[in-house]
Order: sequence, then structure tokens, then C-alpha cells
Amino acid sequence: MRVYLMTSNSQIIKPLLHILEMERDQGYQNRAVAGGLDKLLQRWENDLEPILGDVGPYSILTPVQRESWVARATERVLDSLDKRSSTYSSKNSPVQTSVKHALKSPAIKLDHQVVKLKGIGDQLAKKLGRLGILSVSDLVYHFPSRHNDYAKIRKINKLEIGETQTVIVNVWEVTATRRKGNPNSWSVQAVLGDETGNARATWFRPGRRGRQEPYLARSLKAGDQIVISGRVSAYRGTPIFKDDPEYEPYQDQEELVHTGRLVPVYSSTEGLTQKTIRKAIKQALDSTISQISEYLPNDSLTRTGVIGLQDAITQAHYPNSQADWAAARHRLAFDELLLLQLMVLTRKRDWQRKESGISLNTSKQGINNFFESLPFELTKSQNRVLHEMLGDLRESKPMNRLLQGDVGSGKTVIAASGLLTAIANGYQGAMMAPTEMLAEQHYLTISQLLRASVIDNEMSEARIDSISTPIRMGLLLGSLSRKTKIRLHEKISQGEINLVIGTHAIIQDDVEIPQLAFAVVDEQHRFGVIQRSSLRKRGTRPHLLSMSATPIPRSLALTLYGELDVSTIDEMPPGRHPVRTRWIEPSGREVAYGFVRKQIESGRQSFIVCPLIEGSEAIQSRAATEEYENLSTRVFSDLNLGLMHGRMPLRDKEQVMKNFKEGKLDILVSTSVIEVGIDVPNATVMLIDGADRFGLAQLHQFRGRVGRGQHQSYCLLLSDDPGEEARKRLKLLERINDGFQLSEQDLGLRGPGDYMGTRQSGLPNLKVARLTDQEILILARQEAIRILDSDPRLAQRKHRPIFDLLAKASVEVPSEIS
Ligand code: ADP
Ligand code: MG
Repeated sequence: MRVYLMTSNSQIIKPLLHILEMERDQGYQNRAVAGGLDKLLQRWENDLEPILGDVGPYSILTPVQRESWVARATERVLDSLDKRSSTYSSKNSPVQTSVKHALKSPAIKLDHQVVKLKGIGDQLAKKLGRLGILSVSDLVYHFPSRHNDYAKIRKINKLEIGETQTVIVNVWEVTATRRKGNPNSWSVQAVLGDETGNARATWFRPGRRGRQEPYLARSLKAGDQIVISGRVSAYRGTPIFKDDPEYEPYQDQEELVHTGRLVPVYSSTEGLTQKTIRKAIKQALDSTISQISEYLPNDSLTRTGVIGLQDAITQAHYPNSQADWAAARHRLAFDELLLLQLMVLTRKRDWQRKESGISLNTSKQGINNFFESLPFELTKSQNRVLHEMLGDLRESKPMNRLLQGDVGSGKTVIAASGLLTAIANGYQGAMMAPTEMLAEQHYLTISQLLRASVIDNEMSEARIDSISTPIRMGLLLGSLSRKTKIRLHEKISQGEINLVIGTHAIIQDDVEIPQLAFAVVDEQHRFGVIQRSSLRKRGTRPHLLSMSATPIPRSLALTLYGELDVSTIDEMPPGRHPVRTRWIEPSGREVAYGFVRKQIESGRQSFIVCPLIEGSEAIQSRAATEEYENLSTRVFSDLNLGLMHGRMPLRDKEQVMKNFKEGKLDILVSTSVIEVGIDVPNATVMLIDGADRFGLAQLHQFRGRVGRGQHQSYCLLLSDDPGEEARKRLKLLERINDGFQLSEQDLGLRGPGDYMGTRQSGLPNLKVARLTDQEILILARQEAIRILDSDPRLAQRKHRPIFDLLAKASVEVPSEIS
């Protein structure tokens, strides 16, 4: 021991810091020093005592205790260093860098609140909070939406048409104009100039919340100096930045412009300048980057060739070059997708391993009789997916299959045959739909398919030759009276009802479906994972068929539904005609109504969908009622109109549908409930009012209600105030009839997090990765498979950080349906 008395403690500080850092990075496994930390602590005891106070033993501490011990030790060592910081010069080693940063702002940690940072007070913290930034780590992970390349700054007379470029300009003039016939919609024009010439810029943005003058026009003023970036086109010889170019006040950029480098531009919020947010992030980054530990094991890093995490985060904010930025993005996107893949793959493995399913006999005579009783032949596609499904049902491994097919491609009959198979084998079947309307529709459709006779409001019964058990169907909805629900629950738990159709009411805790062998979830993306999986947990594991009428691009299927096997119906039943789709300018409303009238005069019928109104079903229904009054008393007072909305009792809906189907009604005015399950071949017009408020998938669903008979059909999209995004959607819809192509395009338009509610799918949102990142996705998937093959439970030490991340992500993900 005495030997080490000679050591001046300044000489052990550097290695000690390094060791503490390693220990932290390795997850406090007491392996930063061969033989354990205690050996070293003992050896340096005399030097360390004045700094650390208590010096061990370390080995007996729990991981949590170790963490705080290491943190405290680091802090103290740095404190002692603070007193003689001049001893250290900063070079490039990470330890020294961290020492340097730590000296600037002592002991900032990733999980600290942002106010801990210098220059961030409550005011600023509040603004950051609006961006979802609460902790220092949130700042570090607030990646720029793009970079300004100040190495490539131009003068106006050097701008090249068609290229994305940046200029520093004076703002000469700003004008905001309301768009014609559209009081809530604004465009903003600016005249800009530098010493070499003039340029223009235009922004097209709908007014915020409709009414007020756009924020843009208020925030941009003549006399300002701005840095503006965007694609340059030419208008009568003047360069113009047209597509909502990005700009910042020049003061925010001043220092950076002269460094001539790639400068991050962050998404921000009102009253938070780029300069401020940039400073906050830079400080957070500098003081904590060394605390970010690599969670990927070395072999994964080597195999995938991705760059290190610290490097990636630094370069994502301040890349040295475009290539470095790309490498950083690649790594960060990889991380997100890897996590996602690990989640879906563990889910899949869990599902298939834990319990075995029920092997069903699929060659029962009754099932054949069902197909013979259908008024049509299955298409080739339907036959293929049917056999894929039946193959699964024969296995004792529970099926977990996604059936996707465009609107009207005939998924219901596939689902029905699965349900029937379960019942023919003496088990129960269940079908869950996201809305009461859809559940009712399925109940009616399947009743029809099986030619069931009504027992009462919620039950019907069918018999099929050579199936000994009668098929007893029950409709279970949340809105039923308590008494009715209890009655149904009883019949279900006793097996008297063997086919349950309903909303999520069928997965409530007090519902037992003891013999459930086959379950269908329709429009499955509208349910959260938890909800889908609670269907699986009843008794033995049922075979699960998830259906989606929103065709999912393959990349997305892999990402979101990587746990599922996928069957696709890619063919329409014969006799469907492409629907002609037209987006009509607000001024064309009368023309559109005239067109509807013409079609009705020639014997056809029409749907009119009312604008979507945010709020409850009640509000929506009231608005539809008003619209119905308006149309039936003014515009179409001489025609027969019917109304359908979500608040009507099932009986009334049935009656309206029946009347429409029988031609007693010319026009069916409806809320979005019409989206599903309605089949009236004589209807040839689908007029969608307020089309900009619906998503592409939903619009496509509406459109699928027509084009089912021999006559040419039309879809008219009315929109009073389409924003830029909505315009793109409506144009796509005009051009593309095929649901798959449409969804691929939609994916390009929207961010992935948005697409079909990733949140609801029970998976984390992607911040960096895009679903079009096919190559990274494949890389991540391969690596996830490798990791799980070698270590299915992620029990190995080196996978510990991954395991923790995964556990954390699973907790954070919301899964309730909104
Ligand atoms: P979706 O896939 O949108 O759920 P449905 O199952 O509701 O489609 O089917 C749409 C319509 O097409 C229904 O009226 C159904 O009876 C009919 N249908 C389904 N399969 C065929 C087929 N092979 N030939 C003709 N009509 C069919
Ligand atoms: Mg359907």
C-alpha cells in the first residue's frame, strides 16, 4: 500500500474518471477494472479518501446503488478537478472532453430538467415544454428537421432554377391575401432583395384556426433581414421560392453564416427563435454527450456497420458534411427500427410459443355447404387467402394472420368461413369491430350470408346442413342496457351463443368466451395492441385473423405488423367498374348538386357524406341532421332523402338501408358511418362534402361504396378550404383508383408516425426513421432476428441495455384506442 502513497492524486484522477465512465457505460457490472473496482479503490484508498470520502466496497452494491455511487464519485472527482482545472488541456479523448464539458456546467445529467442548464429559465422551459422537451435528454434528442448549408450561400443573381438554395436577403414587402371565395384561407407573398437583385417568395397556408390573419404575415415584416432556403423556380424572370420556403431571421444565423457550415434548423414554436433553441441544444449536447452510452453490443456494431451512438447524435446536430449527416441519420433510424423490430418479433415469438392453439378440422361438410349456398363464386384471390387461412387453422399453433384487401374485395366471407369452421368443430367464434355501426353491419351481413332468422334484437339463429349445432349469433355492443349485456354474457359463457359479434365490449373483463377458437378483428389498425391481445387471452388461444381494408404498403406491414403473417386479396369481384373521381372547387357546389340530380333522373341513387366535425358522435349526428334538413327542404325538396347517423337505433338504420336498397330513397345523407359494409349497386354517386377533413384511406373507403353495379359511378369531392396537404390528397384520389397504390403514395405524403395511427398500433413513434427507409429496415430486421436467435430472452449481459430499452419502450407506448 505504501508504494502508492507516492502517487499524487492529480495523477489518478484522469484514469479514475475514465474508469467511472466505463463502468457507467457498461451498466455497472463492476467490470471496468479487471478483478473488480474494489481492488483499485483499495489500492488508491489514501489518495481517494480526501476526494471521495467513503471508498467502497463497490462489489456489494446493487446496480441502482452502484449507479448513484458512480455518479456521486464522478461529481466529487470533477469538483476536485474544478479547483485546479488549469492542469488539464483539452484534446480529443472522450474523457477529456467530458471533463471539459463538466467543468463548464458541472454535473448536468441527461435526466435533469432543462432549467438546470445555464440561461434556461422558467419562461424558456415552458416554451420548450410545448415542443415536448422537458429534460436535457429531450433536448439532445430533438434532432433538426434539416440543415442550412452555409457553405453554399448564394447571391440572388447566382441562383439556379430548380435547385434548393439559400440566400441572405432583405424583406422589401409582405402581403397577405385571402384566397378567393375562401375567407379562411390565406397566402402570403414577399418581395426580397440583396445587392445583386430581387426575388420573391410565397407561402400558402390556411389561416390558423381559420380566422385570424396568418402568423406568417405577422412575423415577417418589411425591413427584416432573413436567411431563406428552398427550391427556386422562376416567375417572369424573377427567382421565386414557392413551396413554403423555410426562413429564419438573419440575426439568429449571423455567427453561423460565417462559419460556412451545416447548421441545424430545429422545429420550433411561436416565440422561440432558432438562435435560442440552438443554444439550448448545443449546451445540452456538450455537457451530456459523454454520458450517452452505447447500447449496441460490439458484434452488432461490427455486423451492421452503423456508427457509434455518441458520434451519431453529435453529427445529427452538427455534421461535418452531408455524408456525415447521412451516416448519423442512418444510425439513429436504425436504432428506432431495430427497437421496433425487436418488439414485434418478441411479440410474435411469445404468441406462438406460450400456449398452443386449437387444431381445427377444416374439411367438415358444413363448410362446403356454406360455400355452395353463396350467391357467387369466390375469386381466385379469395380462394388463395382462404386456403392460407385454413392451413393455419389445422395447426395447433395459434394463427396470427393479417388479411388485407381493398374496400369491397370480399373479406367478410373469408372471415365468416373461419367463424363457421370454429363452430362446426364445436367451438365458439368472435368478431370484433371498432365501431358499433360496423359491428351491426357485420352482424347483419353475416346473418344474411347464413340466412339466419331473428330471435330478438341482439340474437339470431341459423342452421346449416350437416352442422349439428345451430349457429347462435349474439350482437354485443357497449351501448346495450346493463340487463341485456348481462343476459348476453351469460349465454356466451354457457356456450349458448357460439358466434359473438360486437365492439370492444366483447373484450371487457366480465365477458367469458370459454370455447373461443377463432377470432376476427376488423379494421384492426383502429385497435390498440392491448385490445387485440386481450382477445387472445381468453381461455385457450384462439386463432386470430386481423383484417384491414386499408392496404398496407409492404414496408409498413413489416414494420408495424412484423408479428403477423400476411394474406392479401388483390383482386375485385367481377363486375366492378373504376369510379371516376373529381375534386370540385368550392364554387362548383351547385354544379355538383346538379350532377347528382341528373343521375337520379336517369334512375340512379346517390350518397352524400357530411363534413366531419370534431367532437362527439352526438355533435356529428346533429350536424348531419341539419344538413339533411337543409338538403331535403331546399336543394332536393322534390326528391326522397334518407338520413343515417351513428346515434340512430339499429332498427332505424336497418330500415333506412332497406329503403335505400329498394330504391325508395334517392339520396342517402350520412355521417362517416356510411364508410363500411353498404352494398347498393344502383348507387352511382358518392358526394363527399368537406372532403379535406377526411384521410385518404377513409375517402377511398367512401368511394368503395359505389361502382358496384353495371353503371358508371362517380365520386365527387367537395372542399371549401383545402390546405396544401389536403389538396395533394384530393389530387391523388382523382388520379389513383387502386387502394394499394394510394396507400404507398399516402405514405410519401405523411410522416410515418402519422400513418394509420402508429400510436394506436402500440408501437413507438418514429422520429428519425421513415417507412420508406427500406434498406435500413431490412438491416434492422436482420439484426433483430440475429439477436433474438442467439439470445431469445435477451438475458445475456451484452443485451442488457437492449432489454432495458425495450422494457421502457413497451411501457411508454400508449395502446388505448382514442
Ligand atoms: P370488404 O373486403 O370491403 O369487407 P365485403 O366482404 O363487404 O368487402 O364484400 C363486398 C361485397 O362484395 C359484398 O356485397 C359481398 O357479398 C360481395 N362479394 C364478395 N365476394 C364476392 C365474389 N367473389 N363475387 C361477387 N361478389 C362478392
Ligand atoms: Mg368489410
